[in-house]
Amino acid sequence: MFKKILVANRGEIAVRIIRACREMGIKAVAVYSEIDREAMHVHLADEAHLIGPAPASESYLSGDKILEVAKKSGAEAIHPGYGFLSENGDFAEKVKQAGLVWIGPSASAIHSMGSKTEARKIMINAGVPVVPGTEGGVESIEEAIAFASQAGYPVLIKAAMGGGGKGMRVVRSQEEMPGALDGARRESINAFGSPLIYLEKYIERPRHIEFQVFADHHGNVIHLGERECSIQRRHQKVVEECPSPVMTPELREKMGASAVEAARACGYQNAGTVEFLVDQEMNYYFLEMNTRLQVEHPVTEMVTGVDLAQLQIHVANGKPLPYSQEDIEMRGHAIEVRIYSEDSLNNFLPHTGRIRYLRPPDGFGIREDSGVREGDEISIHYDPMISKLIAWAGDRESAIRRMDRALAEYRITGVRTTIPFGRLVMRNESFRKGDFDTSFVEREFEIEHLQAREKAWQKVAAVAAAWLRHHERGKGRHEENAHTVQVMSESSGWKARGRKTELR
Ligand code: ADP
Ligand code: ADP
Ligand code: MG
Repeated sequence: MFKKILVANRGEIAVRIIRACREMGIKAVAVYSEIDREAMHVHLADEAHLIGPAPASESYLSGDKILEVAKKSGAEAIHPGYGFLSENGDFAEKVKQAGLVWIGPSASAIHSMGSKTEARKIMINAGVPVVPGTEGGVESIEEAIAFASQAGYPVLIKAAMGGGGKGMRVVRSQEEMPGALDGARRESINAFGSPLIYLEKYIERPRHIEFQVFADHHGNVIHLGERECSIQRRHQKVVEECPSPVMTPELREKMGASAVEAARACGYQNAGTVEFLVDQEMNYYFLEMNTRLQVEHPVTEMVTGVDLAQLQIHVANGKPLPYSQEDIEMRGHAIEVRIYSEDSLNNFLPHTGRIRYLRPPDGFGIREDSGVREGDEISIHYDPMISKLIAWAGDRESAIRRMDRALAEYRITGVRTTIPFGRLVMRNESFRKGDFDTSFVEREFEIEHLQAREKAWQKVAAVAAAWLRHHERGKGRHEENAHTVQVMSESSGWKARGRKTELR
């Protein structure tokens, strides 16, 4: 087994991987940017190396610096986590050429799945159903209109190299097409450095259901069941669960077989996720394949009992999968709520600042994968996801209740988070019934509604602050007033109380 692994990431996923290394008796090497000196992943690692200033382009995305540290520290393998360099096929190749092991699939699999149009071609050839769409990239308006007239509106323009829910545009009529095409192309160039766009039929009110797959270097490929990821905001997942409330054993077998087929078709190795859209008639269509460990992997771990991060290391070391498909059993139900430093009551605006107080929940069936500690500064430089809360229970209803209980116990001040939003989802009637699709958040949570609630509580806090100021002034302590009011607005007991009670 490896003796030392470099973890080329930060935040909760770096912590997750360092923990896996520790449990396997492997030394973990962390890398960090200037503002991450005191970060949790740095403290947990066996050694840590500075790789540059805060902007990711000069630190966590700098493959050369990371390779340098790997050599200097004597690491034998590099784990990229998710985001950053994880889906960079060129970097995976460089790692290999440097004589190190890349904990992930081959560069060629990353390249072919990194392009949505290329991936679609491979899946069509392998007999995996794909969302109806154009054969390849679309360049002219005529091509786009021809596809839309044949498939029927609405259609979706997508960036071939897209990701993170960005670079998508719904087109509902022919008149919208020229403007949408130009806009989508511009966006694709800006965000992904590629003008390549294509069209898909826009599936109305679909579910997003994905399969965890795993392949070793000996030709064995298995799946570890599905994850339901339809609770999305701006096409990004916010709540995930395993199993899907609409899955049947028959459909799981069919979709699982397609997922395994998809992995085989691109010569896949290590952990991967095959994403599908499922329409109202329960037809399923390949969407894309993510060639890395997924943010939401813990729900699969809780239900299958398989440590996916450890399995990645095991397989990258050349060992065969210790499980066959028959060995994979799913037990109980797990839900994950992503905790972002965003103000969920104010249009999910990113919220930066210092975490002044932090007391996460615990108890039976609760797991928190976090990358932050009390006193940490949440900066604008990185992803706003700071932690993931996972609840496991014997059945879905109990898992929802447990998650709601845990979210209610969660105490964090200094930054606003999506915890209140998580509670609203857990208490939503349609969510509880399992009756939802990818438009759930838009439909159920009108932003104005959330803002109105918040405004009411802001009024209470303002009155309290004014009263306090008036009171203090009476005592003639002008100097401290400004300070008191500032502290009040950031970590006021009134506000904290308001947040706690508003959902009861
Ligand atoms: P997944 O596809 O794994 O469910 P996403 O669709 O949200 O999750 O894709 C992974 C996202 O993680 C990236 O788009 C990026 O926004 C985010 N990300 C990248 N690097 C990090 C990181 N170090 N910590 C947290 N989030 C990250
Ligand atoms: P990304 O690479 O950004 O994750 P995906 O292709 O995986 O892009 O799509 C992300 C989300 O966008 C899906 O989960 C779904 O909600 C929505 N979406 C993508 N394609 C379609 C489609 N053809 N019809 C309806 N919704 C879609
Ligand atoms: Mg996706």
